[in-house]
Amino acid sequence: MRKARARSAPVGLPNRDTEEFTCRLYEGVEYTAYWDEEARRRTDALERAIVGGLLPSGGQRLLDVGCGFGRLSQAYADRFRQTVMLDGSMSMLRQARDNTSGRHIYIAADVMRMPLRAGVADAALFVRVFHHLEDSGGCLVELRRVLSEGGRLVLSYANKRSAVRLAKWAARSASHPYHPRHPQPMPVGHGSTFYYHHPSFVASALEGARFRPLPGNDAGLPDAVPGFLGPLGRPTGAGLALAGILGRAHASFWVYTGADARGGTPMPRCESTTDLLQCPSCGHEVVAETDGYACRPCGRFYPIVDGIADFRLPEGPAGDGGAEPS
Ligand SMILES: [Zn+2]
Repeated sequence: MRKARARSAPVGLPNRDTEEFTCRLYEGVEYTAYWDEEARRRTDALERAIVGGLLPSGGQRLLDVGCGFGRLSQAYADRFRQTVMLDGSMSMLRQARDNTSGRHIYIAADVMRMPLRAGVADAALFVRVFHHLEDSGGCLVELRRVLSEGGRLVLSYANKRSAVRLAKWAARSASHPYHPRHPQPMPVGHGSTFYYHHPSFVASALEGARFRPLPGNDAGLPDAVPGFLGPLGRPTGAGLALAGILGRAHASFWVYTGADARGGTPMPRCESTTDLLQCPSCGHEVVAETDGYACRPCGRFYPIVDGIADFRLPEGPAGDGGAEPS
C-alpha cells in the first residue's frame, strides 16, 4: 500500500509545478508562505488550540505524521518526552528542523510504510494529511500499528457533508454529499485529488482499524474563514466553543477528531533512536552507522542527511518498494 497520488500536487499552494514537487508531495513548496496570511494565521492558531485540546496532556512519545514545517509543534512541544516528526518531503523536514528544537527526531518516510516499530508512540497527530490519501483504511491501520495500547490518534479530515458542500449540492454544483460509504474524490487540477470523507465513513474506518472514536469531542473549522469571524475566529473561549459546535454538528469543512487505540502492543523499551526504528521495506531491525541506518537482511541503507533520517523508498514501477538495494 502506498501513499496515493504521491506524484501529484495539491492546489492552492505555490511552486507546485516543479519537477521535484511532482515526485514528493509538498517537496519544494513554500508552505510557510501559504500560512503567512491574516485569515490563515487565525486558522492556524485556532487549529493548534483544537489539536491541543484533543491530545493527551502528556506522554512518552508523540508522532507528528505529515508534520510539514512543524506548524503544529507548539500544540505538543512541552507535553511529551520525545517527538518524532515524519514527512515525505525533505524540504519540509529541513524547515521543521530549523523551526523546532529539543527532543525531536526527524524522519522522511511514506506514511503507508513508516520505519517505526510497533507501539513506539503513545500519541499520533495526523492533521491535513488524510485527504491526500486514497487508501483511507490502510493508513489508519499503519497508524494503529505504531501506536501503543490506548494511544491517542488525532486526525483531521475534509468533511463531505459540510454546510458549504450541502449548499453547493443544493445549487447543483456538487455531487451528493450524504452517501457515507466511499470517500469522495475531487480532482483539483495538476493531477491531484482531494478526498472528502463522510463523518460516518471516518468513524467506521477508525473502528475497522481498531480505534475507539472519542464521542462528542469533534471540533470543526471552516478553513480560512476564521480570519473574518472576529472573536469567534480566535483560539479563545468563543472561538473554541464555535469549533466545538461546528465539529459536533459535522457542519464545517475541516473536522478534527480523536480516537484511542484498542488492544495491541505495549510500548517497547527504547533506549536509543535506533530502538524505535525498523526497515520500511522488510520490517527487520536496522543498525546505526556513522551516516545512516543499515538493514542487514535486505541490504538497504537509509542515510541521515542534514540531521534527517531518510527512510523513503524509491518509487518502483510495480509499487514494490523500489530499486534494488545497494
Ligand atoms: Zn530491510
